[in-house]
Amino acid sequence: MSRLDSFIHRLTAQRDILNDIRETVDEIEGPVLELGLGNGRTFDHLRALFPDKRIIAFDRAVGSHKTSTPAPENIVLGEIRETAQTFVGVGAALVHVDIGTGYDDKDAITLTWLPQLAAGLLRPQGLVVSGLELLHPQLEALPICSSVPVGRYFLYRRI
Ligand code: SAM
Repeated sequence: MSRLDSFIHRLTAQRDILNDIRETVDEIEGPVLELGLGNGRTFDHLRALFPDKRIIAFDRAVGSHKTSTPAPENIVLGEIRETAQTFVGVGAALVHVDIGTGYDDKDAITLTWLPQLAAGLLRPQGLVVSGLELLHPQLEALPICSSVPVGRYFLYRRI
């Protein structure tokens, strides 16, 4: 698969999974957290899906398109490992994680802290949608929509 194919699959997976879980997430109290604001594309999709929820986006710096940039009070800048730690216990309904790099060695370092952090950000029954596989005893893997190839994107529920 070319990197272009892989990119298209990632974006399609994000859109399809987020669309698929919209009603479930709407019924769960709490904010939505976007780990990896980037260009703001998935942030823009999240705010279209969840107009009544607060969406807090995290990144090292603001690099989003000006039409897809959250209000200043909903942007948290710095290393997610540290900045999101202060949000543990916030009781998020949904955490979307889009901080994979495509480099296995770098992602392996991220995965030493990310699963625990994601579990800590969610309220029980809250969902995490992630480009990286999150192995954690409090995160129950859920089936994803059939349009997404197995192992391309991941969905978990906080137990
Ligand atoms: N979801 C975004 C979109 O749809 O436009 C794309 C996100 S992009 C793939 C990943 C972003 O995560 C980058 O902007 C990068 O700076 C940020 N990022 C990755 N690891 C991070 C970390 N440990 N702390 C803070 N930001 C991080």
